[in-house]
Amino acid sequence: MADREFDAIIIGAGFSGLYMLHKLRGLGFSAQVIEAADDVGGTWYWNRYPGARCDIESFEYSYSFDEDLQQEWEWSERYAAQPEILRYLQHVAERFDLRRDIEFETRVLAAHWDEGSARWTVTTDTGKSYTAPYCITGLGCLSSFNRPDIPGLDSFAGEVYSTGQWPHQGVDFTGKKVAVIGTGSSAIQSTPVIAAEADRLTIFQRTPNYVVPAQNHPTDREFVGQLKQSYGEFREAQRRSLLGAARVLPQTPKTVLSIPEDEFQAEMEQRWAMGGLVGFMASHLDSGTDRDANERIAEFVRGKIREKVADPDTAELLTPRSYPIATKRLCVDIGYYETFNRDNVELVDLNATPIDTIEPQGVRTSDKLYEADALVLATGFDAMTGSLNRIDIRGRGGEKLREKWAEGPHTHLGLMSAGFPNLFMITGPQSPSVGSNMVVSIEQHVDWIADLLVHLRERGAGQVEPLPESQKEWGEHVDVLFNMSLHPQANTWYLGANVPGKPRVFTVYIGGVHAYRNVCDEVAESGYPGFAID
Ligand code: FAD
Repeated sequence: MADREFDAIIIGAGFSGLYMLHKLRGLGFSAQVIEAADDVGGTWYWNRYPGARCDIESFEYSYSFDEDLQQEWEWSERYAAQPEILRYLQHVAERFDLRRDIEFETRVLAAHWDEGSARWTVTTDTGKSYTAPYCITGLGCLSSFNRPDIPGLDSFAGEVYSTGQWPHQGVDFTGKKVAVIGTGSSAIQSTPVIAAEADRLTIFQRTPNYVVPAQNHPTDREFVGQLKQSYGEFREAQRRSLLGAARVLPQTPKTVLSIPEDEFQAEMEQRWAMGGLVGFMASHLDSGTDRDANERIAEFVRGKIREKVADPDTAELLTPRSYPIATKRLCVDIGYYETFNRDNVELVDLNATPIDTIEPQGVRTSDKLYEADALVLATGFDAMTGSLNRIDIRGRGGEKLREKWAEGPHTHLGLMSAGFPNLFMITGPQSPSVGSNMVVSIEQHVDWIADLLVHLRERGAGQVEPLPESQKEWGEHVDVLFNMSLHPQANTWYLGANVPGKPRVFTVYIGGVHAYRNVCDEVAESGYPGFAID
């Protein structure tokens, strides 16, 4: 017997869970949020590593649902740092009195659908269970830390930190020898800060990333003043954009190879000077579909690496060559490449000298032992499906989601999965999610789910579930877009390639935020074809 009954159970109290709760309350549904952490924030609660900040401009990477909130909140920098984003989400929780419906320090272990009562029962690690007709996951695409399986890791005598679970009190690396494993976004953000503090920093790299400059600066008050006079229009432009960001140099309506060299260089310099990833993600008509076109853009960025990194051998090691640019989210940097010009920083190429083992004194590669007092694991996430699969989710007939998805996720619109009635996934696999400004995509999912729940209530219906054939078509559509792009030429976390044993399946809808919204809106306006409702 479940302890408590609600209309909806929401798992996770990050951007997704907080807005979902607020939205459902406003519509008269009772909802309970369950959150493993001891406060709100999600990504911004856990990822407290030095240098953590957003890669989408703050006034774009924020909620649009409340006009007073967006008018009153002031961002201090173009790209807010983690403490400020966390403060923002804490403010949202207070402003809308959300915490009273959130159970903190409670991890969901299982969610089982009961066909007789048409309800989900959610059980947790505190022993409490909850029941509701609707279960909504706001688990995050990047919330299951990927701890590397390196022999000897547990034998390390010094401190071990994970970027995704950073201590709240911070870490002082002064006078220490620090080893960072991984060169993804978290390492790119944290290494400049760690290098400035530590005695020595050794960075272990498997695959270099394409890194573009943030060009961060304190908020331009004049610009934000103007923006706030028409924030609504700006938000609408975000929703109607490719990636969910409106302040960006538009896509050049030309094929890359048709542009004369001087014109091309001038334009790319402009994108570089403006900073941010959005201007590089789909810069030209064919930059994401033609490898030669893509190569020209990649070569521009490689030239910048050569300019910034003094030692040519180190510059070469930092230069990505094996995969097309923008086939995974670009990293945004504040002083990353310059870090390698410091005397106390060393880059180790794991392709040439792989890690054999971790010993009490440090990291031993096939070449030698790199001594360390502290180890930082910046090894990414079991992305997209990791947090869903860690919960024992069972749908119709006791079928396990984890087993059904053993060869990759199956969803309709990235929102629901056949066989799992009334289970909704905010930014689920096969939706735009990590290929977009996620707050825009989160709001769109929350609004769509809420509209559907109202539709069910008005029809007196108790259940909704995607039709298997609609789900199949959606999966095929996601694959068609994938195969038209350069993504198949890259081994990325979008494909699960960073997690040993994970099936190589593409999990992001890359048709763009606008196109995706149109599809979802059309489904809603037509009375939800593709879904069985009863
Ligand atoms: P999350 O913020 O991940 O929250 C999920 C919550 O669910 C967590 O609090 C977690 O504790 C909880 N949870 C998970 N499993 C369980 C369980 N079994 N039981 C109970 N609770 C559970 N996106 C952008 O668009 N722009 C950016 O600049 C950007 N920067 C990022 C920087 C970092 C370091 C990371 C890791 C991600 C970044 N992202 C960015 C992606 C980011 O995750 C999303 O933008 C957004 O914060 C996701 O919100 P969410 O609420 O969906 O998920």
